[in-house]
Amino acid sequence: MAALGGRAGAALLRRGPLPGLRAAPRRYQYKEKWAATAPHIPPTRLALHHFDVNYSLQLKELWPSVRAGLLCEQKYGALLNNFSLPDHVTQELELLNATDFVSEATKKVRSVAAAEEAGRGESGEGRMVMQAETMTHAEMSPPLRASISSNIKCYTFPRGDITRFRPARPNTLGILDYYLMDAASLLPVLALNVQPDDFVLDLCAAPGGKTLALLQTGACGHLAANDISISRTKRLHQILHSYVPKEIRETVSVTSCDGRDWERLEGGTFHKVLVDVPCTTDRHSVMEDDNNIFHKRRTKERQMLPMLQLQLLMAGILATRPGGEVVYSTCSLSPLQNEHVIERAIDIAETQFNIALRLEDLSHFRTLFQDTFSFFSDCRLGELVLPHLTANFGPMYFCKLCRM
Ligand code: SAM
Repeated sequence: MAALGGRAGAALLRRGPLPGLRAAPRRYQYKEKWAATAPHIPPTRLALHHFDVNYSLQLKELWPSVRAGLLCEQKYGALLNNFSLPDHVTQELELLNATDFVSEATKKVRSVAAAEEAGRGESGEGRMVMQAETMTHAEMSPPLRASISSNIKCYTFPRGDITRFRPARPNTLGILDYYLMDAASLLPVLALNVQPDDFVLDLCAAPGGKTLALLQTGACGHLAANDISISRTKRLHQILHSYVPKEIRETVSVTSCDGRDWERLEGGTFHKVLVDVPCTTDRHSVMEDDNNIFHKRRTKERQMLPMLQLQLLMAGILATRPGGEVVYSTCSLSPLQNEHVIERAIDIAETQFNIALRLEDLSHFRTLFQDTFSFFSDCRLGELVLPHLTANFGPMYFCKLCRM
């Protein structure tokens, strides 16, 4: 029997001893394991099935198109690095027909403001001009004008154009010219609306795309960038090294703490807090089997995500000073990870901490950025960018709370 070692031996023993042969010694007996023989369903398929069940109810007739977007190559934006003096880069990108979606929106605001002025002085015809604009008077509220940081520049190709950006290049000092990212990831940063000298906390910062965008505003008085993962924090350090000159880097404090403990460390000190939580990363979950949260062994972790998200948001709220603002964001379509977390946080802040929060209306983002992104018009709280084949950014959910 010893000659029947390995797989062949095991296969025979599974069928029982051959006639005339003794039962195999215990050490050669093969115990069938369910886990080894059950069909392995890749986590990407589990994710897609889960989304088909849940998102078809939530998004209804929009789901097939969002699904197609999730399963196709995503679109990138090029966040210009203001620290590398990228004048020639701007020209290069414009020659390729890419535009800075942030300044395009700012221009739109200005042209409507001008039309508004003209409309005030004129009657009849002047007002007609104003009404013809895509934005209405109500949408041109003061927060709209204030909400766009003109220092952030991110180039995207027009809807339907799937040209790819070349990789970033270093300038003579070794600083890279742009950072390629999902352009929708900039919306939470724009919503945070950092003002000069603000103390800013980026609670879940790694690998650092949004931290870099926060620095591009040039407004952070102090920036604390934290992430629990030491390996991901290393990537954040690398990004800061590749994009930010030493003197600015030194104004950023990078830590690797559990964000849930932040209140204990530095409660109530920040003007602006970004809470970009871990989530089901829907696009990754349907495309990549590696490091997939839908892997069977990560079921518990996945089910606990809304609790972790709520704890992180609460820590972010408690880290904000009265009068300060928090932006919560995920790259998931799931209401359980989005609106429900916001509702629970508002409730807990009030009942357990006596903190009143005001939900800021961000619906003007939809008007401003409708040429670049596809927004979900029925999001109950906050805003949600839906993937779409012609504008394949997102998903990106963001919601802003002001601490009273
Ligand atoms: N903001 C980042 C960016 O733009 O590059 C992406 C952040 S990613 C969506 C979520 C991050 O949360 C992960 O890097 C993860 O390591 C971190 N994280 C998970 N649990 C955390 C915790 N308890 N405290 C702090 N960070 C946590």
